[in-house]
Amino acid sequence: MGMPPVTDIVDLGQLGLKPGGGIRFEALVPVGEFVFGAQRYVLRTDPVPVTIDISRTSSGNVIRVRTSNALQGPCMRCYGDYTMPLTIDHKEVHEPHLDDELASDYVTGQDLDLGALVRDAVGLSLPTSISSPVDENGICTDCEQSAEQLAKLRDSEPEPEEPPLDPRWAKLRELEL
Ligand SMILES: [Zn+2]
Repeated sequence: MGMPPVTDIVDLGQLGLKPGGGIRFEALVPVGEFVFGAQRYVLRTDPVPVTIDISRTSSGNVIRVRTSNALQGPCMRCYGDYTMPLTIDHKEVHEPHLDDELASDYVTGQDLDLGALVRDAVGLSLPTSISSPVDENGICTDCEQSAEQLAKLRDSEPEPEEPPLDPRWAKLRELEL
């Protein structure tokens, strides 16, 4: 078994599938970087090894893309280096003859734009905040921080406040005096 080919466009017609038929194959799909705010995020493995299942329906296709990967970039909480595990399992329906709404944006004629499909599937799977889980002290458990960043975090921690004195104790204190 050699390496799967790097693929971004698949010709659905060339697959020669009959209605009810299906095919599974592996491909390496180039995805590229993501930018949020001014921060750049990349996948640990890119081109991304993807398992693709294409089923032929009576008049269209169902395309399933699966991959396990990880997104690498700055944690949005502490700016340390963070690697977020990522599991993608996305199903795309292309039934242009049934309904315009069911025509996939990723299929033009017979060409499936696998690159765009996988990239968007990754994008859709991302949480709004790309940040590590935290421990009971609110410190990221999975980030690698420089000594400088750690010092900054420590400085910015609020001082614990003195609990307000119970007025009854205040009275007692006065009496003791
Ligand atoms: Zn963090």
